[in-house]
Amino acid sequence: MDKKIKLIFSYIEKLFPNPETELNYSTPFQLVVAVMLSAQATDIQVNKVTAKLFKQIKVSDDLLTMGLPIFEKQISSINYYHTKAKHIFETAKIIHNLECRMQNEKKKKYKNGIPDTLEELMKLPWVGIKTAKVVAHILYDKLYIAVDTHIHRVSNRLGLVKTTTPEKTSELLEKRIPDSYKHLAHHALVLFGRYYCTAKNPKCEGCKLKSICLFYKKNHV
Ligand code: SF4
Repeated sequence: MDKKIKLIFSYIEKLFPNPETELNYSTPFQLVVAVMLSAQATDIQVNKVTAKLFKQIKVSDDLLTMGLPIFEKQISSINYYHTKAKHIFETAKIIHNLECRMQNEKKKKYKNGIPDTLEELMKLPWVGIKTAKVVAHILYDKLYIAVDTHIHRVSNRLGLVKTTTPEKTSELLEKRIPDSYKHLAHHALVLFGRYYCTAKNPKCEGCKLKSICLFYKKNHV
């Protein structure tokens, strides 16, 4: 295995053992809603809103019963709530219809009626490649690495990739990182970027990756 990758992940794993998403959810449908709400919003903001919302909404049916106007009001503290409410509500309708049409075997495979392929997930309104990869990875253990701003920054700083867009970073990380590290990679790199290798004032002095970090070398010569 690539020594650099081993060094990076064994260090990050020590800093953040058993990393997981910081979005709160207890059902697959709630995960989809939380991930869709998290676009251009922090996990803290989303968790604040979903603390109350998820007591009422467990599956797509619950959201349809609640109705769009009440749902929109409940998420109104989140960025782009109007657009998000509309798209999440449409998504709930599609998922509900999919679930109704599914035979028993498929129902067992598809959690809360949520598809397990990127192609199917991306047919849902406003679900882009990143959201689809997060959902497929968390719900169905698919070996994707969804890349947000934190992973994109950290991966470039450490020289895991040399890219200008998160999409390209995701593509290259999925090729470079061995399958055995892929589950760890997404959540561990997000947390490392969020709390350690931050955009401003990263904790470089205490960081054990200094010796291989391109960003550190560039700024400390
Ligand atoms: S040395 Fe600094 S920039 Fe490099 S990985 Fe560590 S915290 Fe991030």
